[in-house]
Amino acid sequence: MYSWLSVPSYWRSRSRRYMLIGGKCNNCDYKFFPFRRTCPRCGSHLISEEKLPRKGRVLDYTVVHNPPRGYEYYTPYVIALVELENGAKVLTQLTDVDPEEVKEGMEVEMSLRILRVCGESGFIAYGYKFRPVVK
Ligand SMILES: [Zn+2]
Repeated sequence: MYSWLSVPSYWRSRSRRYMLIGGKCNNCDYKFFPFRRTCPRCGSHLISEEKLPRKGRVLDYTVVHNPPRGYEYYTPYVIALVELENGAKVLTQLTDVDPEEVKEGMEVEMSLRILRVCGESGFIAYGYKFRPVVK
């Protein structure tokens, strides 16, 4: 735990990531993720929380063959830039799909998954990933 974070702010930021809660600028209407208190487009501090849609499209992607420690289990895996239905963009891992099947424009949806298992402690980190839309 980071000592500069209060316990309530830690839990708030954690639930924002689990719930896909981003920010909306009330000055320029820009929507973004993850949440932050300053608009990345215009610098305004007039930010409100916005629950983001769980569906979007793959804008671009890359296949990871040499992952950072803790992510070896999923190799090779796909990291994609997903544009959500409201225009916000999320950098995310794709799941439930072979890297060869991923295409730009592919429809995807959020899914809560295990992100990684941390070393010998066995601590399991959960978070969002995106998968092809189940029809
Ligand atoms: Zn703004």
